[in-house]
Amino acid sequence: MDKGSYVLSYNPGRRVANWVSWHLDRSLLGSARRKDKFMADDALPPGFVRVTSSDYAHSGYDRGHLCPSADRSDSDADNATTFLMTNMHPQLHELNDGPWGDAEEHERTLARQGKSLFIIAGGVFGRSPKTIGRAAVAVPDASFKVMVILEPGQRAGDVTASTPTLAVIMPNQPGVSRKRWTEYAVSIDEVERVTGYDYLSSVSAAVQQVIESRVGSE
Ligand code: MN
Ligand code: MN
Repeated sequence: MDKGSYVLSYNPGRRVANWVSWHLDRSLLGSARRKDKFMADDALPPGFVRVTSSDYAHSGYDRGHLCPSADRSDSDADNATTFLMTNMHPQLHELNDGPWGDAEEHERTLARQGKSLFIIAGGVFGRSPKTIGRAAVAVPDASFKVMVILEPGQRAGDVTASTPTLAVIMPNQPGVSRKRWTEYAVSIDEVERVTGYDYLSSVSAAVQQVIESRVGSE
């Protein structure tokens, strides 16, 4: 689904996204206020369950943004779009407000420094995940994020073996906030292994081999 300022792959069996992906640079950081208006996604095909905010009520889990609200403060419309429920997955508050939020803060720090980031985030799921709410929203075992940190104007074809990247996998488990976010750094290969996706597939195989096998650099 193309939401204009981010794209996502939705999993109707889990009622959450497989992944959400977006671009971030300082042109997307402005003064638009956080809308805080969570919305069911009416763009889902007919017959798909529409997750609502109330599916998360009293579940013990936050409505955890994948593309963060604060990464879209350029306009009221872009900020509002981050509150679609297809951009949420269930996260313990301790994760959402802890190391996950700190990693989000880091991506904005890089953007303010003038970097151009391409980011992918989603969940890592077990075979039969626990669910919450009437819509039976699957709870991820962990949340992952992959960032490619480029200079303004650079695209997939400009990625080289020395392009900085960052990847994290953070358990959606009590105690997660006891470690700093950087301690959850992993290789992109590890994220590929646990999610089954080939990330950065528009980058040459030779470059992927180098930048995906090392643990993050920035
Ligand atoms: Mn969050
Ligand atoms: Mn790859």
